[in-house]
Amino acid sequence: MLFKDIVGHQVIKQKLIAIINSERISHAQLFLGKEGSGNLAMALAYVQYLYCLNKTENDACGTCSSCVKVSKLVHPDIHFVFPVATNEKVKKDPVSNNFIESWRASFLENPYMSLEEWQEIAETGNKQLLISSKESAEILKTLSLKTYEAPYKTMIIWYPEKMNAASANKLLKILEEPPQKTLFLLVAADVEELLPTIISRVQILKINAVDENELTQYAMEKYQIDAQKAKDIALMANGSVNELKQLLNQMDNSTYFREMFIQMMRSAFVANVPGLIDWTDEMAKIGREKQKQFLNYALHLVRESLMMNYGSNAVGKKTSQEAQFLDKFAPFVHGANCLDIIALFDEAAYHIERNGNPKPIFLDVALKLTKLLRVKQPVLE
Ligand SMILES: [Zn+2]
Repeated sequence: MLFKDIVGHQVIKQKLIAIINSERISHAQLFLGKEGSGNLAMALAYVQYLYCLNKTENDACGTCSSCVKVSKLVHPDIHFVFPVATNEKVKKDPVSNNFIESWRASFLENPYMSLEEWQEIAETGNKQLLISSKESAEILKTLSLKTYEAPYKTMIIWYPEKMNAASANKLLKILEEPPQKTLFLLVAADVEELLPTIISRVQILKINAVDENELTQYAMEKYQIDAQKAKDIALMANGSVNELKQLLNQMDNSTYFREMFIQMMRSAFVANVPGLIDWTDEMAKIGREKQKQFLNYALHLVRESLMMNYGSNAVGKKTSQEAQFLDKFAPFVHGANCLDIIALFDEAAYHIERNGNPKPIFLDVALKLTKLLRVKQPVLE
């Protein structure tokens, strides 16, 4: 990871470079930043710069033997610790090393990944991700290894707030008597969830949300979109590179979502059960992220329908293709059923979010819609 590949944060980058060049490197640093801020990427860029055999004033070289290994996350002196849980393959006492292959692939694919995305990749279902005391024992074992190539051994701990009490206390002991030539880089999102005694042992580097202008620039370059669109999305993304990516994906998906919504409503309206089962099968296949996005999209169309029905067309935010469909569909959403329809999608989103099984969830939505769409709007005498 090179500094130049991290969006924004010029001041922090300069500060980190200065720390390394001053050779007053703290043995424990906390990279504190919200999801999507790039705190994990920054910790890695920091080590890459530190280890680089040919560093320049502003960045690591990216090509020396050390840089090559760091950028693939296979440098023998960098160790990763992150929250895990059991899954189909790891049935007992899960530790980071059991998951290191998927962890590497996942970070290389998206250095801004969220904990939620990691959970999906690790296939741990809805179990709580943890850094257990078994992991602390692994940390101690790793610390006893010799350093292979670099001047320092580095331990990157992602989401130390997921340590249970026993493992946090073990980490504290280590930080109190730091082993020689070892760096601890804690990458956290919520300082409140860390032991105050741990916080007092680390140097804190605050990584803020990414500046809106820099995010706009990034969106234009990386995704080849025009300035206005990039600005709109950067505004919605709240300084998170991850959020920005998700919003862009969502836009790509909106045609597909519209078609799936129309298919669902048409089948539900005529109570075409085989059609609804086919639709459910398709929905079950698209993955949790897209399922959540679809449900959000469905809520958006239901709201738009209501607005059309009650004459507030002007405030709506629908595209022209959506408008065509909604002209016909909107009359079926009204005061007598709208709350139930909204609750139906909300509830499905709640269960999908908590890793519920998508097939029964979507089938339930589809079948309940067949009833709800038949509710007649009461006519006032
Ligand atoms: Zn290098």
